[in-house]
Amino acid sequence: MAGPKYQAPRGTFDVLPDAARARRRIEDAAGAIFARAGYEPIATPSFEDTELFERGVGHSTDIVRKEMFTFEDKGGRSLTLRPEGTAAICRAYLEHGMHKLAQPVKLSYVGPFFRHERPQAGRYRQFHQLGAEAIGSDSPLADAETIGLLAELIAELGVPGVELRLGSLGSLDARRAYLEELKAYLRANEAELAREVRERIDANPLRAFDSDDESTRGAMAAAPKLVERLEGEDAEHFAEVRGLLDAAGIAYAIDPTLVRGLDYYTRTIFSFVCGRLGAQSEIGGGGRYDGLIEQLGGAPTPAVGWAAGVERLMLALDEEVAASGRDVFVAVAGEEPQQRLRAMVLAGDLRKAGISAEIDLGGRGLKGQLKQADRIGARRVVILEEEGSALLRDMQSGEQRPVAPGELVAELTGDRG
Ligand code: AMP
Repeated sequence: MAGPKYQAPRGTFDVLPDAARARRRIEDAAGAIFARAGYEPIATPSFEDTELFERGVGHSTDIVRKEMFTFEDKGGRSLTLRPEGTAAICRAYLEHGMHKLAQPVKLSYVGPFFRHERPQAGRYRQFHQLGAEAIGSDSPLADAETIGLLAELIAELGVPGVELRLGSLGSLDARRAYLEELKAYLRANEAELAREVRERIDANPLRAFDSDDESTRGAMAAAPKLVERLEGEDAEHFAEVRGLLDAAGIAYAIDPTLVRGLDYYTRTIFSFVCGRLGAQSEIGGGGRYDGLIEQLGGAPTPAVGWAAGVERLMLALDEEVAASGRDVFVAVAGEEPQQRLRAMVLAGDLRKAGISAEIDLGGRGLKGQLKQADRIGARRVVILEEEGSALLRDMQSGEQRPVAPGELVAELTGDRG
């Protein structure tokens, strides 16, 4: 038999109720962690001027070269569905003059993002990120604090087998000399490099560390590493970040080959990976982006942040989502329309009192209503009888007793069983 005529586009998915509940748990946990640390929520549009991402994320990145959903609006402007959150938040920081606020400005977000990637487990074309940014501080404390927020979320959710990898790219100036050295090394070893890496020696040499190609990986093992070349303030900054993480009891491994897919990173970069996930093993990551605000036309403004993938967290947790049982189902006996009205009013009163309550919307007889109550996992059922009296039934024990109709709300709110 042929499938349904219309399906969600390739690389996208519907979030059905069980998954939606699991998501809500993740987003609520993150929201509480952000709130406790003073990372205020912000939301930016789902699309932006294309140029923002070209400048912000970087022309040489895979994201900008291959993965953006870009379209022209009716006025001929080029717009792009946002592939990541940081560039837009920096745009908002500048647009709303947030540099005039007490620094750093600490922000958090959650929402959908879009990349035209090859879909596979853990990699989608519409996915969801939650993230935090601290804009306006160059202190290693800001690096350690933001990393700590993601570590806390992972611990609180109980994600198993997660490892934190840490690296540093140095400041932009210091990086220049290193990049020349790296390019020279890549050219000298060109024969061993994958074509894609070879073609980007000039545009994006650091990405060579990220290649999946066996021969490239072999060549990169002996390549000069930036973390080993850090000097002066860069080295000090990195040492302080490590010291703060040690003091906070956050375990990490230094990864000299760590790079990220966005051009804007400087100094600290990090990645939380989960052994439980397959090829797409990163749960979340980020780093410092001291040059980005200036790149977008603002004054030099140091900043640090990260994003985590909600779907990756869900995959890593792979948990059975508890069915969402209801407290009460209000059933009616008899055909009188008045009875249905009584049920609706009572359910409304119970909901206002904070109790989840449902009524029959399908015109079922009493037997059918009780079956429905069972199906949705109602713990108790009120049966409104034709005479105006009421019965309260405990669905687990099957015990049933009369309750005065005027006392139903008090009875049900007083004892939540
Ligand atoms: P990035 O913005 O590339 O630094 O990615 C941050 C996090 O977003 C990653 O660690 C993943 O958890 C998640 N992520 C990035 N791209 C995708 C995608 N195509 N599908 C699902 N999750 C993604």
